[in-house]
Amino acid sequence: MPETPKMFSKILIANRGEVSLRVLRCCQEMGIKTVVVHSTADSDSMPVRLADESVCIGGETPKESYLNMRSIMSAAEVTSSDAVHPGVGFLSENPDFVKMTIDHGFEFIGPSPEHVQLMGNKITAKATMQGLGIPTIPGSKEIIDSEADAVKQAASIGFPILIKASSGGGGKGMKIAYNENEVLQAYRLARAEAKANFGNDQVYMEKYLKAPRHIEFQIIADKLGHVVLLGERDCSIQRNHQKIWEEAPAPAITEKQREKVGGLLARAIKKLKYVGVGTIEMLLEDDKFYFMEMNTRLQVEHAITEMVTGIDIVKEQIRVAAGFPLSFAQKDVVLKGHSIECRINAEDPKTFFPSPGTITYYHPAGGPGVRIDSHIYSGYTVPSYYDSLIGKLVVYGDTRSECLSRVRRALQEYVVEGIATTIPLHVNLTNAADIISGKYSIHWLANNLDVVLGNKKGE
Ligand code: ADP
Repeated sequence: MPETPKMFSKILIANRGEVSLRVLRCCQEMGIKTVVVHSTADSDSMPVRLADESVCIGGETPKESYLNMRSIMSAAEVTSSDAVHPGVGFLSENPDFVKMTIDHGFEFIGPSPEHVQLMGNKITAKATMQGLGIPTIPGSKEIIDSEADAVKQAASIGFPILIKASSGGGGKGMKIAYNENEVLQAYRLARAEAKANFGNDQVYMEKYLKAPRHIEFQIIADKLGHVVLLGERDCSIQRNHQKIWEEAPAPAITEKQREKVGGLLARAIKKLKYVGVGTIEMLLEDDKFYFMEMNTRLQVEHAITEMVTGIDIVKEQIRVAAGFPLSFAQKDVVLKGHSIECRINAEDPKTFFPSPGTITYYHPAGGPGVRIDSHIYSGYTVPSYYDSLIGKLVVYGDTRSECLSRVRRALQEYVVEGIATTIPLHVNLTNAADIISGKYSIHWLANNLDVVLGNKKGE
């Protein structure tokens, strides 16, 4: 007889900022007690204030606190937590952390360490997906371990090429070479950046696609073998390979494409016996999809999928981790309307330099179709040690055009004083002709900086 699942009574949230608050809000709605861990720099944060319990796990730097596995395990033990939610970033895709959590007797709210490891190495991830019939971006099959190999592979793939870190993330460790003369420098720089950021200098090579769109598919799977696709998102508006504006559904794909690619991906995930939420990132060029990587965790931009599906992804993620079946089947997932997310970062909207400091006045936007996921408040000081994301403006409309009008209106209402934010950049985006028409690729922002910086109108 299979065991009857039991919902967790206390979850430790091993993260900070808006995602910590997002998980906390979900736990509160589900009647689950929360433990929020925090660094010395986050003692007065909103998640700490709202949690049932909080534990200081170390100093300001991520290494001392949010990446400090032992400290997090001790916090889970002293608070008698049942499960650990890793949020996004930090330890959320670290297989050692997943294993340590399980070995200490806690449930990890995410996939198995084996799946995290498999997808965490982009070379093995690509090979695995290719083996399951998913098209991948043409490129090297293995790690490039010598300069001679780099030159040889580049010539056989054809220029331009992109060198990528196999354990990469956040757009780091990626270098383009447009011709033979640039290969060696790109190779050396990518390796050095990979080593500095991930402690591992393994790199591989791909064809650098000229004008693709970044389309990612959201899936969720339970422990009983059900896999459901929750549609896709277009995350092509990026700066330095970092997303800043996302849309669901993707403006550029048809129902037929969604069904075909989505079905292929869902079958692959089922074969892998994957459990939890996951995002399969693809590039779309000339009507062809290519697998890029899979993120084995919640994504920052999950909220736009929630808006168009009406499904609380975090709630389902917690339910499946506890062993419950998904509360819906594929046929119940109906995409309705349109949603856009603007990432509000503590950054200068012209130079993109981080802008930590004290928020002297805060007025979030509101009204129909507007959701703001943010941990900031008037008087809050944005620390300088972490990611610059301070909030997500998530907007819903019955049509894409209504959604855009609401984004524009909400941005006018949204006030953050005392620090610079990306709000003015988003205002310029909403007025750019290509954004309004939905015709953009991953290079749009870099090619239209004048429009984004407000130096030129986007017609
Ligand atoms: P990371 O894990 O560092 O975010 P990804 O593999 O997800 O790296 O790629 C980040 C972004 O870089 C993509 O969304 C896309 O804009 C760009 N990119 C990645 N691979 C390619 C490629 N082969 N050709 C063109 N652009 C690419």
